[in-house]
Amino acid sequence: MKVLFYDTKKYDRDSFEEIAGEFPDIEVDYLEADLSVQTAKLAYGYDAICAFVSSDVGTAVVEGLAKVGVKLILMRCAGFNNVDVECANSKGITILRVPGYSPEAVAEHAIALALAVNRRIHKGYIKVRDNNFSLVGLTGANFYKKTAGIIGTGKIGAAMCRICAGFGMKILAYDIYQNPDLDFVEYVSLDRLLAESDLISLHCPLTDDSYHLICKDTIEKMKDNVVLVNTSRGALINTEDLIAGIRNRKFFGVGLDVYEEETNNVFENREDDILETSITARLLSFPNVIVTSHQGFLTKEALEAISRTTFENAAAFETGDIKKENLVGIFAK
Ligand code: NAD
Repeated sequence: MKVLFYDTKKYDRDSFEEIAGEFPDIEVDYLEADLSVQTAKLAYGYDAICAFVSSDVGTAVVEGLAKVGVKLILMRCAGFNNVDVECANSKGITILRVPGYSPEAVAEHAIALALAVNRRIHKGYIKVRDNNFSLVGLTGANFYKKTAGIIGTGKIGAAMCRICAGFGMKILAYDIYQNPDLDFVEYVSLDRLLAESDLISLHCPLTDDSYHLICKDTIEKMKDNVVLVNTSRGALINTEDLIAGIRNRKFFGVGLDVYEEETNNVFENREDDILETSITARLLSFPNVIVTSHQGFLTKEALEAISRTTFENAAAFETGDIKKENLVGIFAK
């Protein structure tokens, strides 16, 4: 099988090359360019393409891939909201993904953001580099014996619950389904979670129901001096309302690995660009906000799991032995 890999970053290539030897029947070529109508044509002669969470795998691209004979789309991520699944299936293209590669990777990044913003690590780091050893402005609060509110208790949310329990926190959770493994967690209404939590961390997917879940109305229901963390999807939070809340001194700290309108920024070095929106700059203007660039998944273990499952998906497509949970849509060879 021949696979064309789009939007290759050094860390992708390194982790895929490490596993490649175990799959001698799969030949991979790497492109730095991401998928587009133009670059889809480059897949001529390949059986499969490999794309990521930010790739455009919409209708026009899928049609282009079908035209050059691609039979398989390998998503090297869990999400597939960027893929026109119906169009791909109607053209006989199978879509396989990596559903749960390392929930702990994202949960550990969420608690890293919470701790860093709470203890002002981002400020302390800069100050000490400037020989400023003053502690003014660095006072945090203990998480021990405080309340963590976890919204979405699937794989990543459950890992975050376990971490917060390890810190000696009381855990409140809100989800449309309760996770039976989390017997140390109290499931409550969203309103109660908002009203009682000192740390709120978002771990639900972006759906029509969860779009702008955090908005003026829900921010008003939160405790004053709450720490808010989002490692899930940017549009769970209405950014304008968040900025208003920060200005109203509602938050002790905000840690964002994802934010609205991040798409053009994600994984790119844009230091010479004049950015088209001021959202990132406005968020970064606040001393109690930390923004990272959608790096929650980026651990050695997660990258290895992504590479391995992607190769296994390609091999399974050849043998017809596809894992149901890795299949997106209805069509399998
Ligand atoms: P999951 O499917 O295991 O869990 C999601 C949970 O959210 C489920 O329990 C579901 O019932 C719940 N849920 C769905 N809609 C809800 C709603 N409206 N309100 C409350 N709960 C709701 O998913 P997961 O693997 O834990 O991933 C969670 C999210 O993390 C993903 O959707 C993705 O957006 C994000 N993610 C981010 C990164 C990163 O690098 N920052 C990496 C992977 C995943």
